[in-house]
Amino acid sequence: MENLRVALQSKGRLNEKSLDILRNAGIRIEESSRRLLTMSENFPLEVLYLRDDDIPQTVSCGIADIGIVGLNEVEERGFDVKILKRLKFGKCRLSLAVPKTETYTGLSYFEGKRIATSYPNILRRFFEKNSINCEIREIAGSVEIAPSIGMADGIFDIVSSGGTLVSNGLAEVEVVMHSEAVLIASPSLDECKDNILEEFMFRLESVMLSKGKKYMLVNIPNDKVEEALEIIPSMKSPTLLPLADKEWSAIHAVVEDDDLWKKSVQLKKIGAEDILVLSLEKVIL
Ligand code: ATP
Ligand code: MG
Repeated sequence: MENLRVALQSKGRLNEKSLDILRNAGIRIEESSRRLLTMSENFPLEVLYLRDDDIPQTVSCGIADIGIVGLNEVEERGFDVKILKRLKFGKCRLSLAVPKTETYTGLSYFEGKRIATSYPNILRRFFEKNSINCEIREIAGSVEIAPSIGMADGIFDIVSSGGTLVSNGLAEVEVVMHSEAVLIASPSLDECKDNILEEFMFRLESVMLSKGKKYMLVNIPNDKVEEALEIIPSMKSPTLLPLADKEWSAIHAVVEDDDLWKKSVQLKKIGAEDILVLSLEKVIL
């Protein structure tokens, strides 16, 4: 029986959350050894640990069948891969920044300027689309210091909080793309691997559906049930259970984390009691 081979970042920002995805999908990976290639004990999957730069190519040519990598790397490398799913972590943006002492006048500001970046292909395409000519200087790291040492007039780099830009006297002036970790796959997988991938995707969807959600149990007087159901609508039909006290019922519902407190207050106002909130592990539809 074949294994599905997944390429993950060996260390760095995406490593831990990529492994969490496998773990939450019930796939056990032996981690102690941190070898280049490890096999799952309970699912036909093996993990290949790589630098993130190499993941798109490895998946495109079929050395790995699937991979987890930043969309920025996929776009920059330009290899032929299928993007199967956005994974909602590793979020960042790729932005143009200039020294904060400059007066920024819009995109035409960059005409004839020198821009330092580790993402020359994405930047080239962006400027071509906007008909701006500028000199792209590719450098591998510490892009943000290029303007202060006279190497460039501006930079194009990854930004998440913006703290690094500020501490280097730079101001973000254009967001060129938003990125997050994505699940990618080889353009063609054989039938056996396709079946394993299908099962993997099924588990992944269930894990992701439960993200940012909680399970709520609420006791409510019977005459307030309808009002309560407007506050916490259920996924299909509401789960409504009678309590020992005949005047009362319990509602079970799945709610978004962000709405939890607001909804609890609304429920208390109409007479709800004993609100229990539990963590939700998986939603299997
Ligand atoms: P490797 O050693 O694997 O080449 P790296 O140093 O190139 O690692 P990391 O810094 O670990 O890469 O970042 C990996 C990915 O995390 C980035 O390509 C990007 O998609 C995402 N990311 C999210 N936020 C940030 C951030 N603030 N800075 C850099 N990358 C970020
Ligand atoms: Mg890298």
